[in-house]
Amino acid sequence: MASKQPVVEAPNIWAVAQQQFDLAADKLDLDDGMRRVLRVPQRELTVNFPVTMDDRSVEVFTGYRVQHNVSRGPGKGGIRYHQDVTLDEVRALAMWMSWKCAVVNIPYGGAKGGVIVDPKKLSTREVEGLTRRFATEISPLIGPDRDIPAPDVNTNAQTMAWIMDTYSMHHGYTIAGVVTGKPIAIGGSLGRNEATARGAVFTLLSWAKATGTSLEGLRVAIQGYGNAGSIAATLLAEQGAMIVAASDSSGGIHAPRGLDPAKVGAWKSEHGTVVGFPRADEVSNQEILEVDCDVLVPAALENQITRHNAPRIKARVVAEAANGPTTPEADAILHDRGVFVIPDILCNAGGVTVSYFEWVQDMQSFFWSEDRINESLREIMDRAFDAVYAMSTRHEVDMRTAAYMVAVARVADATTLRGLYP
Ligand code: GLU
Repeated sequence: MASKQPVVEAPNIWAVAQQQFDLAADKLDLDDGMRRVLRVPQRELTVNFPVTMDDRSVEVFTGYRVQHNVSRGPGKGGIRYHQDVTLDEVRALAMWMSWKCAVVNIPYGGAKGGVIVDPKKLSTREVEGLTRRFATEISPLIGPDRDIPAPDVNTNAQTMAWIMDTYSMHHGYTIAGVVTGKPIAIGGSLGRNEATARGAVFTLLSWAKATGTSLEGLRVAIQGYGNAGSIAATLLAEQGAMIVAASDSSGGIHAPRGLDPAKVGAWKSEHGTVVGFPRADEVSNQEILEVDCDVLVPAALENQITRHNAPRIKARVVAEAANGPTTPEADAILHDRGVFVIPDILCNAGGVTVSYFEWVQDMQSFFWSEDRINESLREIMDRAFDAVYAMSTRHEVDMRTAAYMVAVARVADATTLRGLYP
């Protein structure tokens, strides 16, 4: 049967990333040579690799690791497992990591990895086999001083443990700093698991301060109830906000009188989805973006807020916990409508910031308290928000353009200072 959904073309996310960069480059009056350098990734590796499945058959998977720019330090960025991963997507995500690390001013370049796979269709043993072989295939690029992967969509602390172990086996001794987002027992950091959500909440607190409001009583809709979305729900409820809608890849729920994030989390653990949660209406993953709310937190995938739905978004503020949820056309519409967008490279930078703390702790074999981590995260997020907000006021641009201007200028400076080799 033909789908009743209108066919909506999804913009190529790599073209989107380049378009966002071009806008900032224009505002910064960046010279042509530097534009040419920063507009493309420095290194791209494609690997096709075999994995023995549980029934002893052999499957071949395709994966990527891309380093966009490493002038400010080693490459940094997650690895995602998803059936829709493409090289263009990984390029965009790697470029965004360069800007993200620069906006919070941590000494890393940008990188990203991905494997085309739906891990939910594989057994744990198959995912382990895939992870170990993928880690082996990208081992010419990764390393604690070269390029440091971390979790992303559908990967987690266990995935990082397998990568760390595989890399360590190759070298004959434990090298904890090759990945971040590891389990605490093997060199992970306290607070890392919550860091993306915590950082996003810090940026919302900064927005509230800058606009003379508070989060108390605000109604929040969250698209995506994975690591970032579910923990953001809990932390926002702790700030007195009310979660009115939540969704995951199977669909969403809406309860104008409020949802208890812990109960929704427990329901999702038991049923594998938030759908079916008692005393809530069902909404689709698209409808959730348009529900009546004050704060919208896209915490799923790219290309969610587009020119098609941006005119109908009711939130006053959009906090981008996901990477790339808003297209440039939608950005312009939201800006015209007075919706304040806290852009991904700022809003979700808490994850990579605590990854940086984890890496520093691994290098020193000296581990910090959770209070120290959360305080240091707050300091970095507040400083980054203030720098971006000041840039946006000074140049009368939206927060995304301002964040890009701060970030691109830092990466361009580092690239210029180092000069061209040879
Ligand atoms: N995947 C996360 C992101 O997109 C974390 C990256 C990291 O910690 O290196 O920011």
